[in-house]
Amino acid sequence: MKVVETDVLVVGAGAAGSMASIRASEFTKNVLIIEKAVLRSCGNLGMGHHTGELNPMTNVPGGPTSEEFVEGYLFSSSGWSGVERPMDKYIIAEEFPRIVRDLERWGLVIEKDEDGKWATYWNKFIGERMESGVPVKGGTMKKCLVSELKRRNIMVVERTMAADLLTRGNKVVGVVGMDVRTGELTAFRAKSVVMCTGSASRTYIVVPGRRWFWMRDMGTNSGDGRAMCYRAGVEMTMMELMRTDHMIGNTMGRYWWGKCVNSKGEEFLAETYKKRWGRLWSMHLEVLKENGPIYWDARQLTEEQMAKRNYYGSVEKNYPDICIPESYRQRGLDPRKDLAEAIPMPIGFLGGPDFKYNGGTSMEGLYAAGDEIWMDSLSGAFVFSRRAGEAAAKYALQAGPSPMDEGQVKGIAKAMLSPLNRSEGYSPQELEEKIRAIMTRYANVTKTEGMLKRGIDLVSELRRRVAPQLCAGNPHDLMRALEARNILDVAEMHMAAALYRTETVPYGRHFHHRLDYPTQHPTWYRQRVIIKKEDGAMKLFKRQTTEQRSPTREEYEAVKEVKP
Ligand SMILES: Cc1cc2nc3c(=O)[nH]c(=O)nc-3n(C[C@H](O)[C@H](O)[C@H](O)COP(=O)(O)OP(=O)(O)OC[C@H]3O[C@@H](n4cnc5c(N)ncnc54)[C@H](O)[C@@H]3O)c2cc1C
Repeated sequence: MKVVETDVLVVGAGAAGSMASIRASEFTKNVLIIEKAVLRSCGNLGMGHHTGELNPMTNVPGGPTSEEFVEGYLFSSSGWSGVERPMDKYIIAEEFPRIVRDLERWGLVIEKDEDGKWATYWNKFIGERMESGVPVKGGTMKKCLVSELKRRNIMVVERTMAADLLTRGNKVVGVVGMDVRTGELTAFRAKSVVMCTGSASRTYIVVPGRRWFWMRDMGTNSGDGRAMCYRAGVEMTMMELMRTDHMIGNTMGRYWWGKCVNSKGEEFLAETYKKRWGRLWSMHLEVLKENGPIYWDARQLTEEQMAKRNYYGSVEKNYPDICIPESYRQRGLDPRKDLAEAIPMPIGFLGGPDFKYNGGTSMEGLYAAGDEIWMDSLSGAFVFSRRAGEAAAKYALQAGPSPMDEGQVKGIAKAMLSPLNRSEGYSPQELEEKIRAIMTRYANVTKTEGMLKRGIDLVSELRRRVAPQLCAGNPHDLMRALEARNILDVAEMHMAAALYRTETVPYGRHFHHRLDYPTQHPTWYRQRVIIKKEDGAMKLFKRQTTEQRSPTREEYEAVKEVKP
């Protein structure tokens, strides 16, 4: 097997992977990225997610202070969860604006006011949350990252899927990757690794019977990083919490405007931008009350409201092919005459490797950032990947040699390539579809002990009977087989953690709804679920998170410096 050596290896070239490698390159020139897709169009940004704003915009004229931002966050529905780590938000508030200045230098176009200053806005409290930000030309975001990577000569090995971590004891020493076109394997030996593979999206059926990869996040995000970390023995956390930007059909469930009506034609929700998370919860409850299907009714909107709706729900905020006007068009609906059925679907999970303020994980030499950990925003992705890149580079510079374990490399290669040796068996698509069907049925938005146990049984059966019989006729199918293996690991982690957490975490950015434990429970306050693979078995335990209050400046100063 070919061996490539580097100081810092970054997996994934989305927002987080790009920023981590740019920052790492300020400490060492030996930085390498491996990316499953191609740099130009990879990651959420590359797919055409043209975010219209960057938030939060703190400590700048017209914006809140860090303390105000964190207090606002804790006061919003996301903050009621009782499982926050408010220092993460404080760090973002302190460090994001300087990153935006860097992005602007690299080519990001930011909207200006009449005086030529950033057009920062701040709504102190809008319904469930407070919001501060600055409007940007979203399409320039990916471009500016790509040009900065090129300017720094950071090498990106494209169409290469990271498949498993190489370890020595509790240390990560590299990754085995596969060229998804040729199937050639490479051992990437690295002094430190930054995992930035994005969200774990391909776990549910988003639009039954429709295109397989229609989902909110990039289709290549099959939870590879989470699965690799889990298999290597990294402590994982918050895997029970779902991400709540439900899809409605194949369109993101925000900004639809109008009102929601149930199957009896009764209005149960008037759309307001302010009720961002609560809106989807109301829709979900209406279905639980057996009043579904539910519909969006935009027929009464004024011309001005309709124009606004089309702006917020168009390519400015979404992918071109899943924006609201396009969604109506594809269904042959006229918003002035027809109701549009809304089918709330979960989009994935927030949890991932448990991480420190420098992005470090429970294994030495391994860092993680972006949607891989529970950031779910560009500000979180940029701030923590910058930290992780710096810490990983500093670690690499002081790390001694760590030879690879040849036996481990051979074992990984054998397991990876085994589907190629079978001419008969199950296709990777079949396994993926089965897992996603089980998850959609038994581990959807609302769960019970019985549903989760049944889901776990069914997925275990797939692991026993189907996974060992996967066959792949070419490198592309082999990639799909490796992805299906990862989706299986992620599904198991989610269901096990959801079963373990015997309470409901209220609806916010992240949440967990157990019909048999319908309220928050004091014994779970500030408790996070940790999952770890030990001696081949999944172990679950609780770990207390920090106090649910805004940190002080002194507390921030203590963690400000990024150490390896
Ligand atoms: C429609 C939409 C709207 C959004 N709106 C906003 C918003 O308004 N504001 C905001 O702050 N955030 C928003 N977000 C979230 C924001 O886009 C993400 O938080 C951010 O892009 C995450 O970046 P990332 O690098 O972690 O992940 P990604 O951009 O998903 O990148 C992950 C990369 O890893 C690669 N990869 C995956 N597996 C492997 C593997 N095994 N080997 C090698 N490479 C691999 C993938 O191909 C991909 O390129 C939105 C997201 C979407 C999808």
